[in-house]
Amino acid sequence: MEIINEHTKESRLEHVKIQYDMLTRYCMKCKVQGHVEEECRVLHPELKLENTIENYAKDNDKKTGENNNNDN
Ligand SMILES: [Zn+2]
Repeated sequence: MEIINEHTKESRLEHVKIQYDMLTRYCMKCKVQGHVEEECRVLHPELKLENTIENYAKDNDKKTGENNNNDN
């Protein structure tokens, strides 16, 4: 586009770059719109597990055994 400065009467050309990337989410992996690669379930399989996270490795805080018989 051409911008004319009224003070200096000089015109200059400004390049207007339209970044569709900011507006449209497009996954290069799936080649579909709607999500970006950061959210891609294919690239990041762990994202789909967010609802089914089980605390598989729960810390068993119970220390069993070892009865210290300190009879004297
Ligand atoms: Zn994807």
